[in-house]
Amino acid sequence: MTTDTPNDGSPSRALLADLFPGARLIIAANRSPFRRTYGLRGEERWERPAGGVTAALDPLLRQTGGLWVAAESGAPQELKVPPEDPSYEVAVLGVPEEVYRGYYTGYSNSGLWPLCHNLVERAHFRSSDWVAYRQVNRQFAARIAAEARPGDLIWVHDYQLALVPGYLRQFGVTGPIAFFWHIPWPPTVVLRLVPERKMLLQGLLEADWIGFQTEESVDAFTSAARRELGVRIQRSARGVTLLYQGHRTHVASVPISIDVQKVEELARAEHTQRLLPELRQRWQLKEDSVLLLGVDRLDYTKGIPERLDGFSRLLSRYPSLRRKAHFLQIAVPTRTEISDYRRLAVSVRRKAAAINRRFGEPGWQPVRLIEHNLRLDRLVVLYRLADVAVVSSLYDGLNLVAKEYVAARVDGDGCLCLSETAGAYHELRSAFPLSPLSPERIAESMARAIFASPHERRERMQALREAVRRNTVDTWLSRILAGVRGSVDGQLSGVNETPV
Ligand code: UDP
Repeated sequence: MTTDTPNDGSPSRALLADLFPGARLIIAANRSPFRRTYGLRGEERWERPAGGVTAALDPLLRQTGGLWVAAESGAPQELKVPPEDPSYEVAVLGVPEEVYRGYYTGYSNSGLWPLCHNLVERAHFRSSDWVAYRQVNRQFAARIAAEARPGDLIWVHDYQLALVPGYLRQFGVTGPIAFFWHIPWPPTVVLRLVPERKMLLQGLLEADWIGFQTEESVDAFTSAARRELGVRIQRSARGVTLLYQGHRTHVASVPISIDVQKVEELARAEHTQRLLPELRQRWQLKEDSVLLLGVDRLDYTKGIPERLDGFSRLLSRYPSLRRKAHFLQIAVPTRTEISDYRRLAVSVRRKAAAINRRFGEPGWQPVRLIEHNLRLDRLVVLYRLADVAVVSSLYDGLNLVAKEYVAARVDGDGCLCLSETAGAYHELRSAFPLSPLSPERIAESMARAIFASPHERRERMQALREAVRRNTVDTWLSRILAGVRGSVDGQLSGVNETPV
């Protein structure tokens, strides 16, 4: 996804200066928002990897300036970005290939990722991966500690970097540290399968403030900290504070969001209007056709095979939808170095082909797969085109696609079928609910959306749009900055909250 236009009037920028005067913002996140490569003739090329974290934080850093520390396998890079008009710095830590594999492919994505999504049988924890994970987390902390001045705001992101707050304190950093955990926090009984859970919790609890996507995750984290480490818990009107070894950590649910204004602008843009009829023609969509859309990384947490089974069930159950219903699935390859992901890609292709063989007819291809990354402006065209967006994640920290679809429906039409186990469901209760492990229930949810009256569609979409507009990416950032400030002030003044 590209983030081209800085929003000069952003309240977040003013808030940062207000709450943390003179502070430099230092972000630590595994992935760099920009990559520089060189073409065959040595010419510079820039890539902007897709992803919600980048889309949310890049505009903020463009306005505030500061530093983003990331990691890659190979040589280190020091970048001034965005290349066309540099306003902040990126330090990409160079990590030896084998260590990166242990840290990223191993501990992070073959261990913590499946486990936190409660898919325990896919999770593997190897001691050598843990060594690599610690090494890279230490490398992040060392770089940040070397750069940070007292009072700078350090903001660490996600499950790849749980130990960074702890290492930062070991390196003598005393300033504010915020942490945002983007994926679900698992129930205690599931967390107990992680051999190093105590060290992960101890590392995290050196942050002053930790944000999660849902109250469920806050509760699960609080419970794990109490059971595993015996932390004291104080609840007050301001939220939950954990006390461990003389340090307080404030914990809150602050679901991430999107740049609603930008998506709405793209949805209204002339090129979007122009592309709509072109695509209808290209995909042979007639007046009475129904387009269902899925947009996901090709990840087993997204429930794509189950969704296709649901679509197949829909076509069997409702013969009137044959020759009418089209399923377009954007499935962006991801983590292809892990065999589970390669197997998933094969299974999705096979299922799509089987449905097309079973139901397809000349002039009607029921399922279409697009297996590459699309830019946001292209996705918005698809969001406008789709009668029904289907988000059927088995588990999902939040799911930004659901919010983007709603924001793109400036026409007030369209239906969202949303998994009850996606974090976004807590905010988007007016979606058509979907139970992601049951093909029959998935088909039922799709049918409810397809056969809903125009009045019901509009009512639901209006409620969804209000929910998305209530919490934009600016609201998210503002709540986090205010939360960290409040938490740090509590630390400094030794505020003693009454336990309830
Ligand atoms: N995305 C994209 N191009 C694509 C597919 C997805 O830019 O072809 C973006 C999408 O717009 C969204 C993000 O990737 O902002 C996916 O975020 P989500 O929370 O839905 O899932 P995640 O991939 O973070 O698990």
